[in-house]
Amino acid sequence: MSRLNPILASKALWQIRVRKRPFVLSHGVNARCNMRCTFCEYWKKTGEEPAKEDVFKLLDDAREFGIGVYNAWTVEPLLRKDLPQIMAHAKKIGMVTSMVTNGKLLYERAEELENVDYLSVSVDGIKSYKEIRRMDFETLLKGLKKAIEVRKLQKQKNPILMNCVLTGKNLDDIETLILLAKKLRVKVSFEPVHEFPGISEEIWNEIGIRDTEKFRSTVDRIIELKKQRYPIINSNTYLRMVRDREMDYRCRASGIILNVTHDGTLETCRAQNEPLGNVMWDGFESVWENSEERRKEIVHNCKGCLFFGYTENSLMQSFNPEVLMHYEWM
Ligand code: SF4
Repeated sequence: MSRLNPILASKALWQIRVRKRPFVLSHGVNARCNMRCTFCEYWKKTGEEPAKEDVFKLLDDAREFGIGVYNAWTVEPLLRKDLPQIMAHAKKIGMVTSMVTNGKLLYERAEELENVDYLSVSVDGIKSYKEIRRMDFETLLKGLKKAIEVRKLQKQKNPILMNCVLTGKNLDDIETLILLAKKLRVKVSFEPVHEFPGISEEIWNEIGIRDTEKFRSTVDRIIELKKQRYPIINSNTYLRMVRDREMDYRCRASGIILNVTHDGTLETCRAQNEPLGNVMWDGFESVWENSEERRKEIVHNCKGCLFFGYTENSLMQSFNPEVLMHYEWM
């Protein structure tokens, strides 16, 4: 269904390989969250939501720079009342749109998302969900089911993606989650919890993956279920890296995905948060050109990560054959 789109892929290749510029803009469309998840740092930082007109200007400039995909992301996009207008603007200027939500407002706002091509919902467990997210799983499921129905009526061609962060808390839920994805006819993706610098020992003790044998057998089970054609979109190459905790790839993330915060700050990626310039003040082209050396240094000195989007896209841009053949999201 949402296998690699050849037209989009060739546009992306042109922008990334020939023009040497990123193709995806991952944007902090607001600065607030309506959840208080134990493992997350984002909701603790507050700030001003950018004005709609400023987001339109940012999108226009991004399009001119060559960005083809707009991803509305941190902190919680559905808290913005004008989000549908922002997504409509991105579509109008020729971008493919995607959005990541915690799902809390999905039931209320599902009908307003017709200009979101790829909808991704964080589902970090079933039985463990409430403990991790501090919200009832039933509330999330109700929103998810409504969004599935609405998107069917809207004739959206891409199925919803449930994205799940593997932690020390939810390993017992993973198989049930995959069965649920199949039953609901949605896709599912996994990535391991990342130990952000500064995360408190108390939190890390709670959610970090301590039982490595159990973790390995859970990821092996994901690989097995993928073989049996359950709707898991991660590549086998990526899943094996996750299982073995091996970051065996060359990071190309900052050359593919631009990470821009709510106030316009460009960062190398979601883990390397050093400010590299402000695209709302100085424009994409200038910030991109002026930050080249620093970006290279940051990536060179980085110890690596296993974020799903960054790793799979890096592997794809390194022409890893298995990832190229099986890439299933955009
Ligand atoms: S490998 Fe490092 S620079 Fe690359 S995306 Fe991961 S954390 Fe960022």
